[in-house]
Amino acid sequence: MIGTRSVICAPLRNLGLIIIDEEQDTVDKQDQVPHYHARQVAFMRIKREAARLILSSSSPSLESFYLVKKNKISPLSTPRVDGKRRPEIKIIDMKTEGGFKKKEHFFSKYLLDAILSTLNTGGKALLFLNRKGFATFSYCHNCGLALKCQRCNINLVYDFEESILTCHYCSFKMELPKICPSCNSGYIKLAGAGTQKLESELSRIFVQARIKRLDKPEYTDINNGDIFVSTSAIIKHASLPDPARPAGGQQAGGINFDLVGVIAIDNSLNRIDLRSSEKAFSLLVGLLGITKDKMVIQTRLPRHHCFEAILNNDINSFYDEELKQRKQLNFPPLRHMALVKLRSKKEEKARLASHILFEKLKEANRNKEIEIVSVNPGQPSKLRGNFYWQILITAKNVKKMNEFLKPQLKGFSHSGLIVTVDVDPV
Ligand SMILES: [Zn+2]
Ligand SMILES: [Zn+2]
Repeated sequence: MIGTRSVICAPLRNLGLIIIDEEQDTVDKQDQVPHYHARQVAFMRIKREAARLILSSSSPSLESFYLVKKNKISPLSTPRVDGKRRPEIKIIDMKTEGGFKKKEHFFSKYLLDAILSTLNTGGKALLFLNRKGFATFSYCHNCGLALKCQRCNINLVYDFEESILTCHYCSFKMELPKICPSCNSGYIKLAGAGTQKLESELSRIFVQARIKRLDKPEYTDINNGDIFVSTSAIIKHASLPDPARPAGGQQAGGINFDLVGVIAIDNSLNRIDLRSSEKAFSLLVGLLGITKDKMVIQTRLPRHHCFEAILNNDINSFYDEELKQRKQLNFPPLRHMALVKLRSKKEEKARLASHILFEKLKEANRNKEIEIVSVNPGQPSKLRGNFYWQILITAKNVKKMNEFLKPQLKGFSHSGLIVTVDVDPV
């Protein structure tokens, strides 16, 4: 059987082998109830059904790396099968480059020169920016009000082609108001650049070049273009066969770019997410896989361990450092986490109930191994008209944590309030 996440639950007699490809991908964790992770289900099934499991990835999850360190699973590395030589990698420190002095200036001089010489030799360049749209932020020039989705409390993204503001969470759309709806006097300014803005900047600089955007979910032909702009969608496209090459003689992996420029990876690194470095690293490894000659990474954090590991071709050094940091912070995979999420149509109800539950859990907890850490508004705090609050719990033993939580939550019910638990969120 072949399938996406849920196929892991498929009834199958005489199960012998499970293979999870791209095991680091967070889509393997269901973000709705029941919050299962396909990898966890796989571990459970092979134990019960005496089968074997292969986890495959070019940038494994820290969870799997940790299991290797503890000798719970065995590592196996495979050499590149496409016979490609390793591309040259250049890290550009944008603090000293000066390119960012002018706000929203995308390119270092080094990257501009690299694009130019790629074009001169008839090569293809890919510029990576993990934000769609034209402007990712719009605000009133007079009173400073940011335009947000009313249902999600999230900044609306401006789409230049449709000249419309969209919420990337719930697909809410509205026209760009001529004047501020709050103060009725200021005009709306656009800021925070996405792939559309990058595309328009490129066409201003490289007038002769054919520029294409590859951030749509459908597969795009890369033959009729010179410079391409994309979000992480390209990494998934790239494993599809290249239509320009005849079938049969095909090497592993399809599309390749002579030059790959990483524009703003710092956005990914600076996210409030304990896995932000791991996710950024995985992105970079994915991009490296579609780079033929040269990869240029622009950053203001040039010493970050994720760049050092890429530069030195030492994937283990990234995981060792990341594991060390997680250990210091008492974060997964060294400890388990549970997020108890409370949601209500009424803001006050969600806030109040979460504080009551937080106190109740703290009082009931007798186990030193379980820590009731904090109570905070959800991230995001409002989504599709619901208000979210969350309680963070960590524990050494996940089974003990579940045993503690279950009876506590059973006795906690309020009308108009929904409580869910996400164990080890990704
Ligand atoms: Zn205003
Ligand atoms: Zn929304």
